[in-house]
Amino acid sequence: MTSIRIPAAADFHVHLRDGTMMETVVPTIRQGGASLAYVMPNLVPPISSVQQALDYHSRLQALDPSVTFLMTLYLSPEITPEVIAEAAATGKIAGVKSYPKGVTTNSDAGVVDYASFYPVFAAMEEHDLVLNLHGECPSNSTTSLLNDAETFQPATSSTTTILNAEESFLPTLLDLHSRFPKLRIVLEHCTTAAAIAAVKQCGPTVAATITAHHLYLTIDNVAGNPHCFCKPVAKLPSDRAALMAAATSGDPKFFLGTDSAPHPKNKKIGTANAAAGVFTQPYAVSYIATAFDRVGKMDAVRAFVAEFGRAFYKTVEKGWESAEDVTKDAIELKKEPGVKVVDEFGQGEGVVVPFMAGETVWSVTWL
Ligand SMILES: [Zn+2]
Repeated sequence: MTSIRIPAAADFHVHLRDGTMMETVVPTIRQGGASLAYVMPNLVPPISSVQQALDYHSRLQALDPSVTFLMTLYLSPEITPEVIAEAAATGKIAGVKSYPKGVTTNSDAGVVDYASFYPVFAAMEEHDLVLNLHGECPSNSTTSLLNDAETFQPATSSTTTILNAEESFLPTLLDLHSRFPKLRIVLEHCTTAAAIAAVKQCGPTVAATITAHHLYLTIDNVAGNPHCFCKPVAKLPSDRAALMAAATSGDPKFFLGTDSAPHPKNKKIGTANAAAGVFTQPYAVSYIATAFDRVGKMDAVRAFVAEFGRAFYKTVEKGWESAEDVTKDAIELKKEPGVKVVDEFGQGEGVVVPFMAGETVWSVTWL
């Protein structure tokens, strides 16, 4: 197969930032082949009120009215059962994102203890909002290598590192699912075979997003290239194979969430601590098609990028999209001619480097 026509993609995990970076990134959503973006709330300060989410929605919509933006709230003490009811009533907020404290970009306000949020999860179950989990336990993220100058011991005795942070989190996923079986939960950006197995083990209310870049990367790529560094980090070849198998399997629990996360180039290179995030938005569907083609699974692209996520989030049932619009808004993917990934997007301080810059991938054309 060298070309295919499918409905526009829906990307169920994007970081669109704010200000200049937002202006650079939002126009690349359709370029990447998506007509719907599920927007993460980790701005500074985080989106933790309904009004903030609605204001952010207006800023995004002003930049591209042809994209459907679904909003999230940042799970924090400001989020109460009353806020959940208010959020659901807006018809623009589809879920709540949980970041364990300190695991990734702008997560300082994140969750320490899930039990205190059980009343919030019960309200989300009642109002049919989705819980989006960044599924990693915090690891030793201190920046000093000599944490305790007296003993040369790390300041924390935690055995969690970026390599086992996701697997360490999986018991929390299973526990939340058993406490709130009707709550729809998405384990975001899975990176391990263990995470895939845990999601399969759960009932139909638990699903997972898989990014484009985790279908390519292993830990070796991350170690040499800050543009491949994100949280959770890519893991072993066996994990990558499990992600690819799940993404191409036709199991509706697994769908696209790119976790496209732009950072200015100067926060990626020439700095002691590179910011975590891979920028994939402008070529989102191209990367997926190219990866699926390499394993002879082009027939699985349509469901993975355009159907399973929409079904899980009930985008038509909830009136966010019409069934006609979804099928009418179509894209064509072509192997030849492909498209060469440009070196940079944006200008000045806002320059951002896309994933696989300089490589040629499948092209996306709007019909
Ligand atoms: Zn993310």
